Amino acid sequence: MSISKKGIAVVTGASGGIGAIYADRLANRGYELILVARSQVKLDALAKRLANMTGRSVKAIAADLNNKSDLNRIETLLRTDTGITMLVNNAGVGAVAPLLASDADAMEDMIGLNVTALTRLTYALVPALVARGGGGIINISSAVGIGPEILNGVYGGTKAFVLAFSLSLHKELADKNVQIQAVLPGATATNFWDVAGGSIEKLPSAMVMRADDLVDAALAGFDQGEVVTIPSLPDAADWAAYEAARQTLIPNLSLSVSSARYRVAAAA
Ligand code: NAP
Repeated sequence: MSISKKGIAVVTGASGGIGAIYADRLANRGYELILVARSQVKLDALAKRLANMTGRSVKAIAADLNNKSDLNRIETLLRTDTGITMLVNNAGVGAVAPLLASDADAMEDMIGLNVTALTRLTYALVPALVARGGGGIINISSAVGIGPEILNGVYGGTKAFVLAFSLSLHKELADKNVQIQAVLPGATATNFWDVAGGSIEKLPSAMVMRADDLVDAALAGFDQGEVVTIPSLPDAADWAAYEAARQTLIPNLSLSVSSARYRVAAAA
């Protein structure tokens, strides 16, 4: 077995869908892998296939990232395995139902996986990466992170968190050689839709991307040093304009005086 110069990539939610494609692509790029998800059987099958195909070391660790002790186990691994250079925070669940048809406990579980686990894993790895001289973190957000009205609002909120957290990490780690990327997939053909209670077959096929194409585009964005990658967006200038509008707002979001349009009642 060859020793990889790229180091080890940890991919969460690697037992299927987008995460399994990341595992495949990163192994082919020369990373050794640690694959994390709940299904040991699926992880073992993927690990065996990728190790045979690429000659890389591929470890499969079953963990429920909504379970505190399982999550702590992966945090410890990220802190202590000095070979780890990359984390793909991909494990996540969604929902399509509106609030009136949703269960608060399920929403809490979704926040636990999409927000709390992603945050804790990032907090575990970042100091270690900084101490080791650098690395990379890829956070899988979603198009609904900037379009929360599209699906369930809590799902959109969790993905908006992932985007905001990634933008902040990028700023904080700019001089630490830790590359941060938020990926915003649109509808992608995976098991996600069955778990979320939706049906991808009902969407126009022109809206749905293959997981292979999604990950290849996202990794191309990573290679180009993008902080935010929207694989389907035809014109990057549209994101640049959105971002420029946000930057224009920022200096005016905290001022000592309220806007003249709100001083009307007081004057009257
Ligand atoms: P998927 O096929 O359902 O895969 C989800 C992965 O997460 C599976 O490997 C699953 O494995 C793992 N997972 C679920 N609950 C977990 C838990 N409690 N602990 C550990 N692992 C867990 O869906 P996907 O489309 O690949 O989703 C990957 C990411 O892309 C998610 O963050 C999702 O929000 C995002 N995304 C997807 C789409 C889309 O249309 N598909 C669009 C935008 C963003 P186990 O069941 O074995 O645990």
